[in-house]
Amino acid sequence: MKKCKGIGRSKNAEACGKLSDNRQLGLCPLCLFNWMHETEAGKLWKVQVFDPRVERAKKEEQKKKDKELKINLTNWRVKLQTKIQEITRFIDIGLPCLALGYHAGQIQGGHIFSKGSNTTMALNLHNIHRQSAQSNHSHNDDGLLREKLAEEYGKGYLEFVRGLKSTPALHWSNLDYHEFYKLACEIANDLKMKGRNFDLEGRIIARNEINSILGIYKKEHCIYDL
Ligand SMILES: [Zn+2]
Repeated sequence: MKKCKGIGRSKNAEACGKLSDNRQLGLCPLCLFNWMHETEAGKLWKVQVFDPRVERAKKEEQKKKDKELKINLTNWRVKLQTKIQEITRFIDIGLPCLALGYHAGQIQGGHIFSKGSNTTMALNLHNIHRQSAQSNHSHNDDGLLREKLAEEYGKGYLEFVRGLKSTPALHWSNLDYHEFYKLACEIANDLKMKGRNFDLEGRIIARNEINSILGIYKKEHCIYDL
């Protein structure tokens, strides 16, 4: 708290002398207002300094609001789903389509148990494996994908993935999914940069680890014991 008293450009302003903790050019808000509207020096200061400052603050505030709105309007669950499928593609890189066994031009992250009817387990990396775009779009290949998964990783693994159906419903908010998404982006970028090839065990271990790092699910649903 300081006494209201003009300084610098407002040195000659009429000042009330009362204590104030909100002063500009030494003046309390009321005296500043009067000075800016009643004197030439004040009017000039208003145009040169005060108004642009208010304008900048308004713009900053609007920018902040726009950003918040954008974050709130984005469906982060959907973005996260896509990013996690991308991660599984990096883990399975270089391998042929799991269902059809050929090297497809476009490999996607296919769900072992379709994400439409098993939403809760759709973000679990163990439920997502490489699949050609062609095969992924044909639901006739769902059974084949499971059969080949068991052939490659063992029947126990297929049963583990099937067991993920009992995952309790997720109660994360859109902003929680935003946080998961940011983490998933870091992981995807890291895998992309390193360009590592994983062997069979490595692919399971990577899924265990990344599930755990993301922390969307409880530990028992994250990790398959080899
Ligand atoms: Zn005053």
